Amino acid sequence: MTINNFIVSLPGLEIITESTQVAKLSDDYHSFSPILTAKLAGKVGDVVVRPKNEAEVLKVAAACAKYKLPITMRGAGTGNYGQCVPIYGGVVLDLSKMQKILWVKPGVARVEAGVKLAALDKKAQEIGWEMRMTPSTYRTATIAGFVAGGSGGIGSIRHGLLNEEGNLLGLRVVTLEDEPRVMELRGSDIQKVNHAWGINGIITEVEIALGETYPWAEVIVIFPEFIAAAKFGQVLAATEDIIKKEVGIFADPIPQYFTGIHQYIPQGSHVALLMIAEQSLESLLGLVQQHEGEITYQKMAGEVTKGLPLAEYTWNHTTLHARSVDSSITYLQSVFPADNLATIQHLHEYFGDEVMMHLEFIRANGSIGSPGLQLVRYTNEARLNEIIRYHESHGVFIANPHSYLIEDGWKRAIASEQIDFKNMVDPYGLMNPGKSKVLQFHG
Ligand code: FAD
Repeated sequence: MTINNFIVSLPGLEIITESTQVAKLSDDYHSFSPILTAKLAGKVGDVVVRPKNEAEVLKVAAACAKYKLPITMRGAGTGNYGQCVPIYGGVVLDLSKMQKILWVKPGVARVEAGVKLAALDKKAQEIGWEMRMTPSTYRTATIAGFVAGGSGGIGSIRHGLLNEEGNLLGLRVVTLEDEPRVMELRGSDIQKVNHAWGINGIITEVEIALGETYPWAEVIVIFPEFIAAAKFGQVLAATEDIIKKEVGIFADPIPQYFTGIHQYIPQGSHVALLMIAEQSLESLLGLVQQHEGEITYQKMAGEVTKGLPLAEYTWNHTTLHARSVDSSITYLQSVFPADNLATIQHLHEYFGDEVMMHLEFIRANGSIGSPGLQLVRYTNEARLNEIIRYHESHGVFIANPHSYLIEDGWKRAIASEQIDFKNMVDPYGLMNPGKSKVLQFHG
């Protein structure tokens, strides 16, 4: 009845009630985790609303507040932790139709929430700029989904993670009060909503810093030993004069899951997948030789038709490729202790093929890091927890991708400023309920 009243109160808006479509639009990529797949099974919304503009978002927000309906925002639904799965049903607000690129200037752009990252990147490149970083899902993911749910990716070796000062410049959000308001967050206020999983504001516009674009060459380097590949990655990451956008290191046998490029990677090899500015290729060659690597593939920036971009084998696309060959594979997300190569090498040897090492180099707050997205041959939950505990006992921080709770992720807590902001903009606690240990939903 409440849902019917909600629907009737929104004439002229695109509303989807057909159950198969609603179920599809309630789903995301939590299927990478066998544990989340079981826990989130059957969690679907009652209805999906697809606003075309902010005025329609305001109407939906007012109706949700009036009928006390849970609301879960959705971009492209590529999140990995059930971030946009509506645990308590209610309304799924799909913002993917809000696709206006409002303006792009040297160094900065402003876009609507549902703009695809690849679309913005293309537009920025027309004036010599590009997105500073994108997840490997850049072709499908939306900008607001990246802000609310993502953290970094290709380009983070140059510009850090999304939450670093200067990467995000403005967010426009709609509140969920009886009379919803529109607020513009700038400066440090942006962090109140950044990576908050849509629990405290409907993002309608994003203003984001751009980086200078380069002609990016793609390079595959193979190594006989894993540790040589990891050291190479570390030195390359730290060599500022070699301009790069992606440094991913993959232990054997991960490359064997890369069916589109495995002809360049002999069995038993460990591999680096790189994006390097063309003017840095000569310097790269020297570094490769010093580390006894071998370049087996090189694609110049202009050769756009030559195969799948290497970027789409990196970050969590590595897991996607592995799972397309063996769907029992899952993954971990790790932050290794400083001076980490010894720990990484130990874990690589200790677990063998059960936990396959995948490192992504980033520059976070000025320091080089190499978070891991290791592939795990899953047997059962108890063994997975044992693997996690072993990592933790060696000083490794695990952002658990097998939990749908914010507090188990990268930050281990919801910042108090995010909770304060939530209490202000969502007084009935309706936004994406069930995703936090500290925010209870009594709907
Ligand atoms: P969704 O999944 O739709 O939403 C993500 C979160 O944002 C949800 O909590 C949702 O409620 C919230 N949200 C969406 N829109 C709004 C809005 N307008 N207002 C408020 N909240 C909103 N992530 C990375 O960071 N880096 C990677 O390299 C990366 N690689 C990936 C590779 C694969 C194969 C997969 C499946 C996932 C990967 N991810 C990665 C996770 C995900 O793709 C990214 O975080 C992506 O940016 C999410 O965008 P989306 O539009 O799909 O968001």
